[in-house]
Amino acid sequence: MSAFDTPDADTCGTILTIDLGALVSNWRALQARAGTEAAAVVKANAYGLGIEPAVTALAAAGCKSFFVAHLSEGIRARAVAPDATIYILNGLLPGSGERYAAHDLSPVLGSAEELREWAGFRASGASVRPAALHLDTAINRLGLSASDGPGAIAALRSEIDAAGIGLVMSHFASSEDEADPANARQMAAFSAIAASFPGIPASLKNSSGHFLSDCPSYQLTRPGYALYGGNPTPGRPNPMRPVVGLTSRVLQLRDVRAGSQVGYNGRWTARRDSRLATICLGYADGYPRNASGTDASPGGSAIVDGVVCPFVGTVSMDLVILDVTDLPAASVKRGDPVTLIGGPLDLDVVGAGAKTIGYEILTSLGRRHARRYVGV
Ligand SMILES: *Cc1c(COP(=O)(O)O)cnc(C)c1O
Repeated sequence: MSAFDTPDADTCGTILTIDLGALVSNWRALQARAGTEAAAVVKANAYGLGIEPAVTALAAAGCKSFFVAHLSEGIRARAVAPDATIYILNGLLPGSGERYAAHDLSPVLGSAEELREWAGFRASGASVRPAALHLDTAINRLGLSASDGPGAIAALRSEIDAAGIGLVMSHFASSEDEADPANARQMAAFSAIAASFPGIPASLKNSSGHFLSDCPSYQLTRPGYALYGGNPTPGRPNPMRPVVGLTSRVLQLRDVRAGSQVGYNGRWTARRDSRLATICLGYADGYPRNASGTDASPGGSAIVDGVVCPFVGTVSMDLVILDVTDLPAASVKRGDPVTLIGGPLDLDVVGAGAKTIGYEILTSLGRRHARRYVGV
């Protein structure tokens, strides 16, 4: 039992198992592949898996740098990683300098306003760690626009110097698609700008970036999804170890006649006499309603007794119905375990079944599951 486990699996319908050993092994594998320091991106509660256990395990394994999105997440990471460098990707909200200083956190700055405010805060005598500078090379979301050209960056030179920059970084728009020409354009744009910051470490690769050919690792990489077992190379075999398992239980079994409608609004119709299993899991557990299996389109699936069984009808708040007709009649009974994530149902398959991506599945995993942290 780990200190981060939730107490009582018997009182919850579902169990989320998080293999911290696999998480650490994925981080080591990515760092070895990069041939340089790998940070860990632990935003959104470590992609839903728990920021404290993830950061504790990774820091113990030697990970020294972490990225989160919000200041609040940085404060949580700091509580378990007293020595780490912790960057806040969403940057500096007006007037938040004191909170950064109080927790030794580093903002990722991405606009002239942010640079000036942080520089002013430093000039007022605040003791802070170096910040990062975000350069936007494609997404048009956060960061100084590299498309404005080196001149625009040079014009901000004194603000950049006054802000105390310890890292320059950019982020890929489509690194999971090796064939996308945007990757090479971003690599070239970042390389040109990083060259104007001699002596300052640079960072470009997210998870999928580690698998792009000809992409330099610079001094730091920033994997997130692949650490948690997501496939950074969609369409090719997943090189990462699975980290997450989600299991539920069968609550009830019933036989229905061909022609019966199933679930809210009768959106699935049995084409044959069918055996259905209702299981304990729903959209309130973070399993998307878009995984509903309807007459118009198939949805998610679950493994019962080794067999992949489709969802039928709409995903309800707390329940999902499976078609278990293809299993031998006596092989499923009330209380039997059901696998929602695990084996062939990896994060990416589950994402596709819910018409989304594995990232959204992972970060939506609700708080209702009993959590078991293993592998430490
Ligand atoms: C989320 C994020 C990452 C990690 O991306 P993955 O695809 O999950 O590896 C890296 N850098 C930035 C700026 C991010 O926002």
